[in-house]
Order: sequence, then C-alpha cells, then structure tokens
Amino acid sequence: MKGLLVLFVVVAAASSLENFVGHQVLRILTADEAQVELVKELENLEHLQLDFWQSPRAVGKPIDIRVPFNSLQSVKIYLESNDIQYNVMIEDLESLLDEEKRDIKIGRSMENARSTNTFNYATYHTLDEINNFIDTLVAENPGLVSKIQIGKSTEGRPLNILKFSTGANRPAFWIDTGIHSREWVTQASGLWFAKKIVDDYGRDPSLTSTLNQLDIFLEIVTNPDGYVFTHTSNRMWRKTRSANSGSTCIGTDPNRNWDAGFGGGGSSSNPCSETYRGRAAHSEPEVKAIVDFVKSHGQIKGFISIHSYSQMLLYPYGYTSTRAADHLELDNLARSAVNALASMYGTSYEYGNIITTIYQASGGTVDWTYNQGIKYSYTFELRDTGRYGFALPANQIIPTAQETWLALTVLMEHTRDNAY
Ligand SMILES: [Zn+2]
Repeated sequence: MKGLLVLFVVVAAASSLENFVGHQVLRILTADEAQVELVKELENLEHLQLDFWQSPRAVGKPIDIRVPFNSLQSVKIYLESNDIQYNVMIEDLESLLDEEKRDIKIGRSMENARSTNTFNYATYHTLDEINNFIDTLVAENPGLVSKIQIGKSTEGRPLNILKFSTGANRPAFWIDTGIHSREWVTQASGLWFAKKIVDDYGRDPSLTSTLNQLDIFLEIVTNPDGYVFTHTSNRMWRKTRSANSGSTCIGTDPNRNWDAGFGGGGSSSNPCSETYRGRAAHSEPEVKAIVDFVKSHGQIKGFISIHSYSQMLLYPYGYTSTRAADHLELDNLARSAVNALASMYGTSYEYGNIITTIYQASGGTVDWTYNQGIKYSYTFELRDTGRYGFALPANQIIPTAQETWLALTVLMEHTRDNAY
C-alpha cells in the first residue's frame, strides 16, 4: 500500500497539479462549547495544513476539515482523546477529483462550443472556455446582452460582467458567482443562468416582466486568477492570488475584504489563513472593481453573491448580531425563495442572517452592499451539505442551477415589485 502511495505521488507530481492522495474530509460534530473551542485550536496548528471547508460554528453544527494524509493520525488522535465525535465524509479526495477530471474529459467530447445551444452546461469549464461562451452569447444576442469590463484582476485578467438589458437607464439586479474560486458549481450555474435569461426573455412572463423593468448584471468568474489556479495548480484554492508583503503565503479572502465591519471577528489577520482579510478594505482589485461599479451605477436594487456549499440562503449581517433594519422582510422573502427552490427536487435550505445561521464573518460582500442601501442583498450557499463538498459531481450542475433559478426568480420578482 505504501509503495502504491509513493507511486501515486510520483505520477501526480509529474503534472504541476497539486494532488490530494490520501486526503480525507472529516466531519466533526461537537457536543458543547468546550469542544468547539478545542476544534478552533486546530486552526492555529499551521504545520497540520488543515483546510476548513466548514469553519467552527454553533455547537452541534457540522465542521468539515480537509486533512492531508500526513496529518490524519494526529488529528484523529486529537479528536478521540478529547472525546470529539467525527466521521469520514470523503475517504480519499484525490479519487473524487480523478473522477471529476474524467467527467470533464467526457463532457468536453460531447460539446460543440461554437453555439450556446450545443455548449455543455453539465460539465465544468476552464476560464478560456467560459470567456468564449460569454463572447458567443453576446454575439448571438446583440440586442439583449453585452459584456462590460469593470476592472482587472491582480494578475491582469479582465473582470467581465454580462449585462442583460432591454432599455436605457434602468435599475438593476446583480448576481455574482465564483468569488471563491474552488466553488465550481457556482461558476457552472452562472453559465446556465446566462443562457436561461436569453432563452426566457419574451417567452417566460416573469423573466420578461423583470427584464422590462430591471437590468440584470452577472459576473460569472468573479475571481479569475483563483479560478485559473484551481485548474492549473490547486483544485482547492479559495482566495485571490495577490502577494502579501512580509509573508510567503498568497491570497486574500475576497469575502472578508469588504468595508463592512472590516477586520472584525470571523476574519483573519494572518496571510496564511483561508479567511485572511487583506491589508486593507477593498485591497483586492476583484472586490474594488465591484465596489466602484456599484457606486457609479447607483441604482442596483438587488445583489446576490453565490457560494457553495451547505445549502443556505443568508442575509445581513455577518459582522454584527444587530439585526438589519429590514430583517423581517428579508427573512420572509428568504423563506419564499427557499420554498420555491425546494419545489423542484426537494432540496432543503436553511435561511437566516449570516451571524446566527453560520457564524460571525466580517468584511463580507452582502453586508457592504446592504449598507450601501441595496436592501435585497443575499448570499447563497449552493449544494451539497457535505457528501461531496467542493468536489460536487458534474451531473449535479444542471439540477443545482435549475432549483437555484427558482429562488432567484422569487428574489428578482420581489425586487422588481418593491424596490422603487
Ligand atoms: Zn465561498
């Protein structure tokens, strides 16, 4: 077995893609506050190289950790000696990712990307493929869709958004996917949404009425540097790719970088952390571009930032337990949206304000947009609840996008009818 493992390591090292042979994802179920604290202490043991897929939160809520092969024994002994309950959610991450690579190969062979009608929405795509898709969609629908560059990433890639519009000077509804690069089902859903919008306009009464009153902006690859990195180097990359002075660790968490409770609890000052907030609010060009766009537009009425995983629909605040002024309306609307979502495949979502539903998180996107006066500010956490986590099989892309679209429709209709 050990020889086989060594062989795997050697073969995987031949490509520059980081391998996850023997990495397990452990699900930890805490029994009391003291156990939550003990699990939090694991975060400080940097030599273990743990990757928290679900950070420590309320007692009894699952915490998911990717544990590298070499740290497995220490972590399991630590948990067992402290009587902390856990189970193995993913036995060997690399085998799941190998399957993903096979699915992508097959998916690509079934696609003709020259038209958005023969594009394969049921597979994961590279940044180049997504950029081609965007240009094709715009070329096919010149009167409805345009591409706007709102900035450049740290590594100089264009930050492109799609604008769906049927008239001048309209208020707008914003959707972004992929701000955390490894959450691949989100960018894949974004592609499906883009096609859905052009297909439904003029056919579906709800979307038609929405687009006759609101523009829709859609940023599919909100963190392009990170996304490329997930394809070429490390499938589990979450952050941006900006350098940090005084540290060899790369990247900032773009969902802790916004000027809303910036620097507060639930964000890290350690550049090596997955929740590193950055040296200053809006330090990341990927964030700053959206900030500038939202401010200069001035009429964005709904703002949806899409993540995975854990099946949740969340609204402000994350940085404070003070309730948002519109808490009740946001809560009622969230309930309607998750009910609509569940009506398709029975997928069940939790909903609520960020700080009580998951944990304190400061410097998050929708706290900032809400404080800018965008009342309908929400974050989704798409499928699943941890069976596959970030390695969600490609055959779940379309069902995930379809059910999410029903929730988005509820949010867009409400925004259209109530925002002004
Ligand atoms: Zn995320």
